[in-house]
Amino acid sequence: MSSATFTTVGELDAALIDCRACPRLVEWREQVAREKRAAFRDETYWGRPVPGLGPVDARLLIVGLAPAAHGANRTGRMFTGDRSGDVLFAALHAVGLANQPTATHAGDGLTLRGTRITSPVHCAPPANKPTPAERATCGGWLRAELMLLAPRAVVVLGAFGWQALLPVLADAGWVIPRPRPRFGHGAHVELAGGTGKTLHLFGSYHVSQQNTFTGRLTPAMLEIVLRAASDAAGLS
Ligand code: SF4
Repeated sequence: MSSATFTTVGELDAALIDCRACPRLVEWREQVAREKRAAFRDETYWGRPVPGLGPVDARLLIVGLAPAAHGANRTGRMFTGDRSGDVLFAALHAVGLANQPTATHAGDGLTLRGTRITSPVHCAPPANKPTPAERATCGGWLRAELMLLAPRAVVVLGAFGWQALLPVLADAGWVIPRPRPRFGHGAHVELAGGTGKTLHLFGSYHVSQQNTFTGRLTPAMLEIVLRAASDAAGLS
């Protein structure tokens, strides 16, 4: 796939949700959707690739790794319906990038300002671990999304997302320094190239419960990174 395949993000999203390129992930996302978690047994799971969430002219991208089996794979909307999303949307609201602090389901009224949430892998993987081959296959979708959006800033949630994103950014034309920039909470790197504008790349610890329940990532820490990225993207 290349960005030439699609002329708008809407076209890309429409094609993405029918993708079946990774047999292991297709099987898993659909199995989870059939079997469900007891608490959601009365719901119809999405069970398909989860497209990016947010305006199609966003200047700031938030990049995780992959949808959660009973979160976005259930609701069909990035980071929606799980504890990680609770932390992320509360922080986005606190810094003025979301109109409400909660995201429970598609159609709940949430809107994002100048910000789009996406991921290098669009289907829920077993144990939250996509293989390198799956990351490479799905990277084509993110590369196309990046080239259409031409963002000014990206916030990457977690080291795995960082590792997955760098080769996609290189494919999309941004120059990745050698040695590669290292992930860390608060990391900030400026990348030249791509669509001709500097891309500000920020790192944040992931909003997983493992980090937020232990205090490794606090709401204040996340908000500082989001504010810096919002400034860099010209959204403040
Ligand atoms: Fe397609 Fe990406 Fe899902 Fe693989 S992970 S099936 S490439 S949408």
